[in-house]
Amino acid sequence: MDVVIGAGLAGLSAAVHLAAAGRAVTVVESRRRPGGCCGTAELGPHRFDTGPSVLTMPGVLAEVFGAAGEELDRWLPLRRLDPAYRLEFHDGSRLDVVADDAAMIEQVRLLCGPAEADRYRRFRDLLGRMFAAEWPAFIDADMTTLGAMAKPYALLRLASMGGFRRLDRLVAAHLTDERLIRAHTFQSLYAGLSPRRALGVYAVISYMDTVGGVYFPSSGGMHAVPVALAAVAEKCGASFRYGTRATRVQADSGGVTAVCLDTGERLPARNVVVACDLPAAHAGLLPEAAADWRLRRARHSPSCVVVHLGLDRPLPGRTHHTLHFGRRWEAGFAALEAGWPQPDPSIMVTHAAPDTLTALEPVPNLHGHGWERVERRLLDRLARLGYGDLSEAPRLIWDPRRWQAEGHSAGTPFALDHRFTQTGWFRPSGVARRIPGLHFAGMHTAPGVGVPPVLVSGRLAARRILAAGR
Ligand SMILES: Cc1cc2nc3c(=O)[nH]c(=O)nc-3n(C[C@H](O)[C@H](O)[C@H](O)COP(=O)(O)OP(=O)(O)OC[C@H]3O[C@@H](n4cnc5c(N)ncnc54)[C@H](O)[C@@H]3O)c2cc1C
Repeated sequence: MDVVIGAGLAGLSAAVHLAAAGRAVTVVESRRRPGGCCGTAELGPHRFDTGPSVLTMPGVLAEVFGAAGEELDRWLPLRRLDPAYRLEFHDGSRLDVVADDAAMIEQVRLLCGPAEADRYRRFRDLLGRMFAAEWPAFIDADMTTLGAMAKPYALLRLASMGGFRRLDRLVAAHLTDERLIRAHTFQSLYAGLSPRRALGVYAVISYMDTVGGVYFPSSGGMHAVPVALAAVAEKCGASFRYGTRATRVQADSGGVTAVCLDTGERLPARNVVVACDLPAAHAGLLPEAAADWRLRRARHSPSCVVVHLGLDRPLPGRTHHTLHFGRRWEAGFAALEAGWPQPDPSIMVTHAAPDTLTALEPVPNLHGHGWERVERRLLDRLARLGYGDLSEAPRLIWDPRRWQAEGHSAGTPFALDHRFTQTGWFRPSGVARRIPGLHFAGMHTAPGVGVPPVLVSGRLAARRILAAGR
């Protein structure tokens, strides 16, 4: 039997691929429902998605359904958000990131003038070429051997496009309007880094959302994604043990033998996919022989404070996602790097349903300080931005302490950051070299954090198991 530990998106992807290939699969999940970070919460009549809201690369999701012979459209109809984001800048101007290519270039022309629109058109082409070079070679690729990084042609192509410069310099070499530069560099925070530290290759994140587009389930919110994946896995024969914690992976000289549960049971297993927080797993769940030197000096991403508010009426004129940029851009990233809240934060506001509003502010993880003051400040900021006085609105808060209580090491749900030394083969490995049958998936492994990458990591783990034939 194959056991998957964790029914987050990575574990679900692994479970679907394994079960669809005819393997006997049991998924063990400590919570009462699937999704992990892609969770849901209720507050009176209001329902919130507690994790991702920017769903990019729907093809990756479609591939998981396709592996089971199912169609994404039938299980989980998606609609493209248009605009994907509204970007509101510190100077009061704004830019809607719209779906149509020509309409987007026109938006840029109206905001920044014809010369910048021309530069933007060329930059958009560059993003497309970068993505084409990077995705198959380094993102959608098994990175469990050092040789996997040695792809000279792809490396040369990326280098020639500036992929190994710093992201801020790369973008500034192509665009001149500070607002447009911000619109294409803020995404480095998704990788846990400032644009000054992130490599240019992370420009592909802005390809995924600003060019590839942002999607959303037609009903059920983002939590519908894991619900549908779990249903497909079950249809393929996988069984789910919700509300059950894996306490120990057992192995002998021949490899993995079993997974012990907090119920006292012992599930015999030939293969295990550990798809949960890896630093936490190495503190008791895993045998010592599974230790990975890459985790010795783990550098975690910043965390976030998320305030979910119940509304008594919709907010007219507001889009699904609005990014409010702070004025002190550089100082904001410098503060986060130093472990303090941003002095004038950039925040993401999501109005996914008429009766809900969610505001997210990046803050230091538990190795930093000062995030306790952020909730109050966030409500004041929302009032100043025209969302009204929401101080009496029913609300739920997720902060670094809560992320920690949910099992995320360092109190961040964004795992390790994506500095070069935590990227590709340098990120914690997807396989335990000394324990046959022990595999890893999820945001702590390659390719990394985010919905598409963790779905890919689950597929890669399943493929390794199927290839090994244990
Ligand atoms: C607030 C927020 C906003 C985000 N926004 C976006 C976004 O807009 N776009 C995007 O692409 N990504 C976004 N992300 C990131 C994305 O959601 C995550 O990278 C991804 O969902 C992580 O999936 P995972 O399967 O690796 O881990 P997890 O979701 O953490 O799943 C791990 C699972 O393992 C379970 N588990 C842990 N230990 C055990 C155990 N011992 N036994 C059994 N079960 C166990 C946990 O309960 C959990 O369900 C966001 C994340 C958050 C939190």
